Amino acid sequence: MAFEGLTEKLSAAFKKLRGKGRLSEADVKEAMREIRLALLEADVSYKVVKQFIAQVTEKAVGADVLEALSPAQMIIKIVNQELTDLMGGTSAKLEIASKPPTIVMMVGLQGAGKTTNCAKLAGLMKKQNGKRPLLAACDIYRPAAIKQLEVVGQQLDLPVFQMGQANPVDIAKAAIAHAKEHGNDMVFLDTAGRLHVDEELMDELRAIKAAVEPTEILLVVDAMIGQDAVNAAKAFDDALDIDGVVLTKLDGDARGGAALSIKAVTGKPIKFVGVGEKLDQIEVFHPDRMASRILG
Ligand code: GDP
Repeated sequence: MAFEGLTEKLSAAFKKLRGKGRLSEADVKEAMREIRLALLEADVSYKVVKQFIAQVTEKAVGADVLEALSPAQMIIKIVNQELTDLMGGTSAKLEIASKPPTIVMMVGLQGAGKTTNCAKLAGLMKKQNGKRPLLAACDIYRPAAIKQLEVVGQQLDLPVFQMGQANPVDIAKAAIAHAKEHGNDMVFLDTAGRLHVDEELMDELRAIKAAVEPTEILLVVDAMIGQDAVNAAKAFDDALDIDGVVLTKLDGDARGGAALSIKAVTGKPIKFVGVGEKLDQIEVFHPDRMASRILG
C-alpha cells in the first residue's frame, strides 16, 4: 500500500517521543527533524515540507507542549490536523450543474488512468447518486482508446458516445447534444493524453473547454510518479484552470508525495482516489481519513 515508508518513519519518531514523558525543547526539535526527513523521503516537495514543519512547530509552541501532561499525544494531534489541512481540510465534492447535463472533462497524461477513471467515476455517480452518465470518447489519437472506453462502459452498463476519429471539439459538442436528447444528466469527456505535457495537447484541451464550458475539469494523475505528478498538476492547472484531481494507483507503493503536495502547490483539491484496477475501486477523497491512515 501507499505511504508505508512514511507511516513507518513517523511512527518511529512518535514512539521516541512517547517514551519520554516530559519533553525538552531538544526532544521536540529532534522530532521535527525526523518528521521533516520522513516527508522529504516520501517525495513531498521541499517547500511544502518547510512550511509544514514551521506550522507544526508554531502550533506546538502555542499549545505549550512542553508543559502538557501528554506532550507526545499533543504533537501527534497537531501533526494529524496539519496533514489534514495540507490535503485540503474537508473533502471536496464534485460540482453538479444547476441545469443538466453536468459536464466533467477528464484530462491527464497518457497512462495516468484517464479512460478507466472516466468510467469509474461515472459508475460511482450512477451507483451513489442515481445519475445517468454518458461517456464520450474524445481521445482520437490512441487507436485503442475508443474501444477501451466502450469495454469499460459496457462493464458498468454505461452508454458510450463515439464518432471515430472526428474532431474532438465536435465529438464533445455532439456528445452533449446526445446526452440532452437521451436524458443523460452527466457527460464524462475522455480526452486525449500524451506522454509529456505539450502545447499541442493543451491547445486541444483549451479548445474543448472553450466549446463546451465544462462544469468540472478533473485532472487524472498517477500517484506512483511522485513529484512528477505534482509538476503535471501545476502544468495542467496553469493551462486549463482545473477544478480538482483524481489521484490514481494509491493501491501501489506510492510514497505519498503527490497526495500531500498537490493541494499546497496548485491550490486545487484531490476529489477522488483510485485504489485498484477494478472499476468500483474509486473513492471520495477524505483528507482527515488519509491523514489518520498516514499516521498509522
Ligand atoms: P489513460 O491512458 O490515462 O487513459 O490510462 P488508462 O485508463 O488506460 O489506465 C492505465 C492503466 O492504469 C490501466 O491498466 C488501468 O487499469 C490502471 N489503473 C487505473 N487506475 C488505477 C488504480 O487506481 N490502481 C491501479 N492499480 N491501476 C489503475
